[in-house]
Amino acid sequence: MNTQINRQNQSDLASLNQVLCDTGFDDWQIQLTMPQGMAAFDNGALCLSPDDLPLVAKQILAVKSRSPLFIQTADHFGYMDRNEPRLRSGTPGKDQFFTGCQAGMQVVGITSNGAIRGCLSQSNHFNERNIRDDTLETIWQRKGAFSYNRQFHPSQLTGACATCPFKNICRAGCKSLSHATNRTVTENHYCLRQKDQAQACTVTPLKRSISFDVA
Ligand code: SF4
Repeated sequence: MNTQINRQNQSDLASLNQVLCDTGFDDWQIQLTMPQGMAAFDNGALCLSPDDLPLVAKQILAVKSRSPLFIQTADHFGYMDRNEPRLRSGTPGKDQFFTGCQAGMQVVGITSNGAIRGCLSQSNHFNERNIRDDTLETIWQRKGAFSYNRQFHPSQLTGACATCPFKNICRAGCKSLSHATNRTVTENHYCLRQKDQAQACTVTPLKRSISFDVA
């Protein structure tokens, strides 16, 4: 089962978990509703803001800590704050972490009209060519294809991502999320680490940390 979290259901994770358990599901993937397609209506009013992420992360971790389901947080949600391994790993693990957007690297999507994208979460902004015009092999191997990931260099990053110690791994998180929310793939405002750092600076600079807490 795949659930998108947004303003209408952000408080329902515990009850959704119970429904899935009661109806025999084993696995549950949780991701964000992004402001694209129908969800972009009314300036994306349905969608959560970056400020909502810490509370949602707490709710996900609370559900994961007691659910029998295999729960994974998808690439739309993160990144690299102290709870990254707990969020990224399937229940009950805590050994995974976000390794960057794999669209056009290890993942490819074919839409219902034949457009090839790096990932089916992406909008048509990311369309490569169409499967009706070329073979998938030709599209995949075309020089310059999926350049936002294949030709990525850390120097392209902007904003908080440009100075982030995780920039070589994270690469500004999910490309479809950053583009849907900020029309760029070079920085991502939907970042728990940025929220974590802002909070640490508010409390005391001595509490700033780049390490994961996996205890
Ligand atoms: S600041 Fe950017 S590069 Fe660093 S963890 Fe957040 S999204 Fe990733």
